Amino acid sequence: MTTLQHLNSCDTAAFVDALRGIYEHSPWIPHRAAARRPFASLAALKLALQEAVSQGSEAEHLSLLRAHPELAGKAAIAGTLTAESTGEQAASGLDRCSPEEYAALHLLNTAYNQKFGFPFILAVKGPTGKGLTRQAIIATFERRLKHRRQDELNEALRQVHRIAEIRLNDLLGIELAYGPAIMAWAEEIGSISDDEQGLTCAYMTPGHQRTAARLAGWMREAGMDTHIDAAGNVVGRYAATDPDAKTLITGSHYDTVRNAGKYDGRLGILLPIAIVRRLAARGERLPFHLEVIGFAEEEGVRFRSTFLGSRAVTGHFDMALLDQLDADGVTMREALAQAGHDPQQIPSIARDRSRLLGYVEVHIEQGPVLLEKGLPLGVVTAIAGSSRYLVELAGVASHAGTTPMPMRRDAAAAAAEIVLLVESRCGGSKSGGGTLVGTVGQLQVPDGSVNVIPGRCRLSLDIRAASDLDRIAAVKDIMDGIQAICERRGIEFGIEQLVDAAAAPCSPRLMEQLGNAVQRAGLPRFDLLSGAGHDAMAMAAVTEVAMLFTRCGNGGISHNPLETMTADDADIAARVLLDFLVSYSRH
Ligand SMILES: [Zn+2]
Repeated sequence: MTTLQHLNSCDTAAFVDALRGIYEHSPWIPHRAAARRPFASLAALKLALQEAVSQGSEAEHLSLLRAHPELAGKAAIAGTLTAESTGEQAASGLDRCSPEEYAALHLLNTAYNQKFGFPFILAVKGPTGKGLTRQAIIATFERRLKHRRQDELNEALRQVHRIAEIRLNDLLGIELAYGPAIMAWAEEIGSISDDEQGLTCAYMTPGHQRTAARLAGWMREAGMDTHIDAAGNVVGRYAATDPDAKTLITGSHYDTVRNAGKYDGRLGILLPIAIVRRLAARGERLPFHLEVIGFAEEEGVRFRSTFLGSRAVTGHFDMALLDQLDADGVTMREALAQAGHDPQQIPSIARDRSRLLGYVEVHIEQGPVLLEKGLPLGVVTAIAGSSRYLVELAGVASHAGTTPMPMRRDAAAAAAEIVLLVESRCGGSKSGGGTLVGTVGQLQVPDGSVNVIPGRCRLSLDIRAASDLDRIAAVKDIMDGIQAICERRGIEFGIEQLVDAAAAPCSPRLMEQLGNAVQRAGLPRFDLLSGAGHDAMAMAAVTEVAMLFTRCGNGGISHNPLETMTADDADIAARVLLDFLVSYSRH
């Protein structure tokens, strides 16, 4: 069996030879990585190989891609693939395609090659290494065929890296200690849904309660004292030997948006369960109480009110929300009671902030930054603040055929100008170092008609930035701009503010310790902003917070069933969080 130690100490020729099969017919890759030995860890070796590829020329990239066989293509049928490719294609059943599937793949291979000039490459062993289904492969093929060329070139190279990662694990006989369990658990609760199609887990539905019970069961089995509190939070406590020790909290939310991904929120609960299971099995305790909390609600799907779980834990739960109605007219109070909870007990959940050491949350990035950087992990610097508004525009609806252009008061044309104003103000030179983002996500012409000039238009605004000053300045400019546009066009407008949330900076002390743990794993520390809100934002009201992001596959897509990550990334995130916990210092 090849070992990392051997790879570090052998001569260059032996190193290249040992890694010959990792990158298909491309020994130049290990050859260039060899100069960077010794590698502190498998993660460091993988990264060096990936960087050797990244630093290659476009011609080298194309020749690397073209060295790969077509999926279920002529070489597979003729039996002339490398041993690695033969095994991989067989693991996903590509050697057992029906005639229709072969025909579909043949058409896709041809169309893809024509469009991009290289073969379609997919790590068919998938995120867990166990193999994608033929249906999933064909669906991915069809989706990626629509990509722009540069995006697809990058995706193909990432798939090559994933193939290499799996081959390297096999070569070195690596058994991931945490990743497979985390992925399997995410799959299991990912199949419990409020809807027939896709994953939806809204607050206090039967599926939500089943998910909570499953999480509580895994926490108990892992060795934690576990309960589900009055707000529905699943709380597992792994106590220190000293009963007077303080508490460090980790966790995330288990509710989801509609038609969600499997890892958003859940990863941050399952990952520490896997860690505690390992600690408990070895009889190891931490010098503080560790609480793993599965927050019951963060997304705001059912009652349009977010962070219900974490606000209960911080003592900021607004009891007036209990009268809020869902779409079926059920109050939150009734929904909680039906699930067996006593809403009056919610205030008693609040933690004593003097007993807390901090809050650390692991979360899938939900964006493409780590993916593009080729890094599995990132340390979050802050959670962006956000401002949200609803804008109502009123012009004059009149005949599309008879009203001369200069005499129109077109609400939709004003809205269009506002959309472009938001884009240019947030993307321009005053964009706050690139952290400022602005979106018009809703745009409606109520009762619009093909032959009527729009008399009314409704749009939403969502402005976020790392710095509150940058955000507030952008909001002011946009508001002034809306006023100017509307005055010029004779449009009346009304603006309602929906959200005004300050940015939550992460604790430099905890960021430092997380970053050190990342580096001890053999990876560079990379810091990034969270553009999305997270439970850490609510927890920041009572304690110092930090977040570790994991790479999000498929171009960084989230809040979507296509959200994906790998067992290897889950595994290294778990090892980093465990290292952070055992090395934790209060200073
Ligand atoms: Zn989330």
